[in-house]
Amino acid sequence: MDLKSIENIVSLCKRRGFIFQSSEIYGGLGSTWDYGPYGVEMKQRIKNFWWHDVVTSRENVVGMDAAILMHPKTWEASGHVSNFHDPLVDCKNCKARYRADHVDLNKPCERCGKKDWTEPRQFNLMFKTTIGPVEDSGEITYLRPETAQGIFVNFMNVQGTSRQKLPFGIAQLGKAFRNEITTGNFLFRTREFEQMELEFFIHPGENEKWLDYWCEERLNWFKKLGINPEKLRLRPHDKDELAHYSTACFDVEYEFPFGWSELEGIADRGTFDLDQHNEYSGKKQQYFDPQTNERIIPAVVESSAGVDRTFLTCLVDAYCEEEVRDEKRIVLKLDPKIAPITCAVFPLVKKDGLPEIAQKIVEDIRTKYSAFFDQGGSIGRRYRRQDEAGTPYGVTIDHQTTEDGTVTLRDRDTMDQVRISTDNILSELQSRIQ
Ligand code: ATP
Repeated sequence: MDLKSIENIVSLCKRRGFIFQSSEIYGGLGSTWDYGPYGVEMKQRIKNFWWHDVVTSRENVVGMDAAILMHPKTWEASGHVSNFHDPLVDCKNCKARYRADHVDLNKPCERCGKKDWTEPRQFNLMFKTTIGPVEDSGEITYLRPETAQGIFVNFMNVQGTSRQKLPFGIAQLGKAFRNEITTGNFLFRTREFEQMELEFFIHPGENEKWLDYWCEERLNWFKKLGINPEKLRLRPHDKDELAHYSTACFDVEYEFPFGWSELEGIADRGTFDLDQHNEYSGKKQQYFDPQTNERIIPAVVESSAGVDRTFLTCLVDAYCEEEVRDEKRIVLKLDPKIAPITCAVFPLVKKDGLPEIAQKIVEDIRTKYSAFFDQGGSIGRRYRRQDEAGTPYGVTIDHQTTEDGTVTLRDRDTMDQVRISTDNILSELQSRIQ
């Protein structure tokens, strides 16, 4: 797949109602995107799958949902005020702006071909805002650049009420904001995005073991999402790449058309965050260990994934163009778990009672899965629309249905069709999905 394919995916997303440019009628706002009807369904499924895999299926992980606006001291303690910078350079000739670590300053500007760079300078990525009605006297705070700090500042609350014992995790899913210097590659790097984060609290000294454990778990999660395992890898960070809080880190990466890029970071954060909040708040951030009768500050292994990057990965990985009888077929081979619609239902014609039978089947499927009724246009066109939307199954009702109660069930990927009894549709879908 080449770079052009990202453009193909952007246009498919618009055509089928997955993603629209934000505030499009006003010309759009750079690199911000809105999720349409199919997009929001698919995104929700990805989030639900994460929440189930990381939180509800585990005895030792609990969830929470912190506010986006936090006390400004949080960001001093976390190091974001002093350390959350990217180096920025401008091309003096054409005024293009780049992240200094994303361009080779020994080469000319890729936009205008001249080599005339400013000195790199540090740029804080947090969005500043003021609390209160009067801008000048309001208290300055920031839109959170990560969800993690909402977990750390609640460590004592959550541990105390959930009575979890080490090792245990606190997970959170929500929006984060970064005033990125350069955005791009569609949903890959935006200024507003969603994160799925887990902070896993452990006995200090067990860091390596838990880092290994979560690396494996998280890589497997992406595989379970249906992403091609050959395009996934774990990459250890070099020493000079490590964030200020981290002593070891691995990225889960996917091979995008624009190269191997990060989907998630899994980091050993040590006791950095709880130590810092201990110091800045003056409130003890400790865990009482009933086995040793000691109070300790737990260490942390973090898993931090982007919802939107995962969404983009699923689309890129699923996008196929195939030749079928001299025609191009565009199909999204999404895993049924995350496809916005599980099964589309088509009456062959709009008469003879076929739409009524189709509606009943739709209702039946909806007791378990999502279903979509479509009676517009030729059956071939209806199949194509659903192929592009990633709908894994299609049921067609024809005149034979009125005679013997059977329908055809079509598989999106193989395009194979079989006749089955109307009564067996749900169980057939269930067994195929499992
Ligand atoms: P990068 O090096 O790509 O800027 P990062 O290492 O700063 O990313 P983290 O701070 O580790 O990213 O954030 C965890 C996850 O949040 C990332 O793996 C990514 O999936 C997501 N994420 C971070 N920044 C963005 C962004 N600007 N747009 C979309 N997703 C993002």
